[in-house]
Amino acid sequence: MKANKVLDSIKNYEAGLPIELVVRKFGIEAKDVVKLASNENPKGTSLAVANAIKENAYKAHLYPDDSMYELKEALSSKYTITPSNIIIGAGSDQVLEFISRAFLDEESKVLMSQVTFAMYEIYAKQMGATIIRTPSYEHKVDEFIASYKEHKPKIVYICTPNNPTGDAISKENLFKIINAIDKETLIVVDGAYMEYASAKDEKYSIVPQNILDEPNVIYLGTFSKAYGLGGMRVGYGIANKALIQILSKLRPPFNITTLSLLSAIEALKDESFVADSIILHQEEIIRYEEFANSHNIEFIDSYTNFITYLFDDRFDSTVVSNALLEQGVIIRNLASYGMNAIRITVGTAKQNSRFFEVFTNTSSL
Ligand SMILES: *Cc1c(COP(=O)(O)O)cnc(C)c1O
Repeated sequence: MKANKVLDSIKNYEAGLPIELVVRKFGIEAKDVVKLASNENPKGTSLAVANAIKENAYKAHLYPDDSMYELKEALSSKYTITPSNIIIGAGSDQVLEFISRAFLDEESKVLMSQVTFAMYEIYAKQMGATIIRTPSYEHKVDEFIASYKEHKPKIVYICTPNNPTGDAISKENLFKIINAIDKETLIVVDGAYMEYASAKDEKYSIVPQNILDEPNVIYLGTFSKAYGLGGMRVGYGIANKALIQILSKLRPPFNITTLSLLSAIEALKDESFVADSIILHQEEIIRYEEFANSHNIEFIDSYTNFITYLFDDRFDSTVVSNALLEQGVIIRNLASYGMNAIRITVGTAKQNSRFFEVFTNTSSL
């Protein structure tokens, strides 16, 4: 049976390997596996959120409030916007899917940086669209504007901070790109790691309010990273009301679960959990920078909760990743992105120490 031909060119998203796989394959106990591969929050889930899930478990038979009134109110007051500016998705991934379905067809082109979040390409290809990439992995203003002028893409994706590289674009440079693009092109600003960038440097902090006056810009945020709710699948898009109305036509009813909805609402009440997560992260990422410096490994200055090590010919990222995996340390090999590099989610102090220990042993440093 033949499937839609647009699927022929799509490679499945390569998710971070699960702990269960390492347990099965290498016989390592789950408690000894260190997973630094999916940019999850090493502090886990806020206690207040976990308690709310427990207390409300008996509500699993009820559909969630499909208007998502309380969550939209909470996001509105956090960002000083209105509920009509918000669409909720099962992860911001689902909002990316709505965007692709709403705006793309076989004639469309989409523009993104050389190395960026893989789902932009996958969702665009599902619609038969053509992928255009700038030469650099960083979001360089001149490259984006030149490529935009040459190709006139329907969507421009700006992932800031960028996954899987960790770099970011300043607010000033983002607006240089926005101002050079006509209003018929949608600009997606994916801020999945924005909490980390904002804490590091104000100049890289982009808040949804900044883009609300632009008719053709949407900001995406998620509860999966700094808010520690990757497993609950809640994300959002923020844009002007007209754009949100278009995307809402594609949203299935009850697209997040009753307990996911409640988790996100509770998470917004516990901002101290996010603040503590960022403090832990800032303390620990320094150790990765120092480790890299002391072993002459190049790294990308990170605005996210992970760090990317760029290898020279002393190391092969696939060999290193496999060697770490056999010792129960899961990181992300970036070979499939065309880079001899690894991406490591910054974990707890103990997890990070384990990474340094195993990396040193397996790489004969
Ligand atoms: C993690 C991530 C997302 C979305 O994650 P969800 O869990 O679907 O909310 C979006 N963009 C980037 C760049 C990410 O790294």
